[in-house]
Amino acid sequence: MLPDEPGLLIDAARIEDRVAELASRISEDHAGNGELLILGVLKGAFVFLADLVRGLTVPHRVDFVTLSSYGDSTTPADAVRWVHDLETDVSGKPVLIVDDVVDTGSTLGHLKETLFSRGASSVKSCVLLSKSKPRADDRQADYVGFEIDDVWVVGYGLDHAGRHRSLPYVGVVDPAG
Ligand code: 5GP
Ligand code: MG
Repeated sequence: MLPDEPGLLIDAARIEDRVAELASRISEDHAGNGELLILGVLKGAFVFLADLVRGLTVPHRVDFVTLSSYGDSTTPADAVRWVHDLETDVSGKPVLIVDDVVDTGSTLGHLKETLFSRGASSVKSCVLLSKSKPRADDRQADYVGFEIDDVWVVGYGLDHAGRHRSLPYVGVVDPAG
């Protein structure tokens, strides 16, 4: 292992299997509900979303928001920063938020509230990773790939100060080191 190479947490084969399972569950749950809007949260969700949507068997469109709560630091900030809005009018539409990881849940909570206030007919959420910690109901994800400990994860779209997004696996870095 190189000096700054992240330690392995979830390998590429396990991710592939789990993403396929999530895609079929989401497809089953949304069959016959009309066109689903898949809303990716940039930047971290771009790899997960690309794999997930290719497994869906229900009609859908894709849009993105860019939200930021952390900047380059690994300590949660209170507020969610709205960097780039989605282009779609969500009024009357079912929406599935796709994010990389839920930590405090403030990003999910904020986004759900905004989508409902804009008239979305339903809002569900899917995250690849969920950090095991207490969270209010409106901050939970409906579909979770893997429950993980409270560590800083990178790879498969996730970064540490902009690095490691292209790793094919989910790894762990020591934010201090
Ligand atoms: P929350 O709002 O749930 O506290 O944080 C969610 C957002 O923080 C995620 O969408 C992600 O961008 C970022 N985040 C939280 N934990 C991690 C982590 O371990 N690694 C990375 N790369 N991003 C994280
Ligand atoms: Mg994010």
